[in-house]
Amino acid sequence: MRFFVHFDIDAFYAQVEQLRNPELRGKPVAVGGNSLTRSVVAAASYEAREYGIKAGMPVFQAKKLCPHCIFISPDFRLYETYSLKFYKLLYRYSPDVEVLSQDEAFVELTHCRLLYPDFVEAARRIRREVSRELGLRVSAGAGSSKIVAKLATSRAKPDGFLHIPPDRELEFLESFALEDIPGIGRRTAAALKRLGITSIPDLRQISPHKIRRFLGKRGEDLYLMMLGKDFSRIEPPQKPKSISRGYTLEKNIHTLKEAIPHIIYLCDSVATELRKEGGKATRACLRIRWEDFSEVSRCVSVFPPFSDFFTLYHQVRKMAEGLISGYGIRLLSVEVSGIYYEPTPTLFKFREEELMTALDRIRERYGFPAISFASEARKKNEGVFVFKSTRRVLSR
Ligand SMILES: [Mg+2]
Repeated sequence: MRFFVHFDIDAFYAQVEQLRNPELRGKPVAVGGNSLTRSVVAAASYEAREYGIKAGMPVFQAKKLCPHCIFISPDFRLYETYSLKFYKLLYRYSPDVEVLSQDEAFVELTHCRLLYPDFVEAARRIRREVSRELGLRVSAGAGSSKIVAKLATSRAKPDGFLHIPPDRELEFLESFALEDIPGIGRRTAAALKRLGITSIPDLRQISPHKIRRFLGKRGEDLYLMMLGKDFSRIEPPQKPKSISRGYTLEKNIHTLKEAIPHIIYLCDSVATELRKEGGKATRACLRIRWEDFSEVSRCVSVFPPFSDFFTLYHQVRKMAEGLISGYGIRLLSVEVSGIYYEPTPTLFKFREEELMTALDRIRERYGFPAISFASEARKKNEGVFVFKSTRRVLSR
């Protein structure tokens, strides 16, 4: 039996703000964009949630619900330092960690049986220790599959832990509405409704072929999951397929001249991230949301692949010139995609290169005959130096 634990920091951004500024503790706090009239709430403390404030809600609406709520501009850099610390702490307990978002991750303990004879106790302990070291409240759920662990966390919040024993899993899954299951969402739930499926027991009644016909492979996976057969594994960290940055402007702008500083900032930020990931992009896109909320986006293919600011800026600026014509702009976003990564050199390749560098350095200092391949030496019968570990490959 496999064992997964899902961790999720409660009200992440809001909690970090409350940690930084003790005066905010115990008070309704909402973290949102820097424009109180145009932004949305990115995170709300549990105190603010009591007033009905939720992530994704426009700030003006949140203010109406709770006029004394404290609104704070996000400090993403600070949140990122907490994220990195969170991931690092989890890796201390198991190498099988899958990061889902800044404040959410799966940890599989299955392969650490010798370290943790009692998985449930271990999961409890990890949650306590992570929470103590971060200084933040973390909730966790555990079960024999990722889906059960994740759903268990949703019932454990805030600041709780819930383990679903294997023989209770089916019953536990049934206690959720279809649209609460990760991967279903409102649209899939509506599609299922058209098939006459409104609950999880309904889903189990239908034939796997039928669900596959309507929802494809994903539907079949869902079907199996609801039978308690979630075979998904911990996914190793993946390189992003696209990188984008964008934001709602404080005030609508109308001209290219006004847009350029924003475009420069967005391109610089995207290109920096691209280099940090070690990728090169082959596609650049610009997205504009106009004042009436309609949107337009343009993309171009770029060759050769790039990771520098100048290439990206040049392309995005050209697209902006073609689109901006005096109509009010509300949001700007820049994206690169078609990212390609140099294959990571294998250990062997590294060794080969290291060896060549060492060889060159010795010869630079002592001359060419100072060192040679073993088989060469055999031929000439002088200056033997055997590369034992690499001989098989290097000898001709
Ligand atoms: Mg969270």
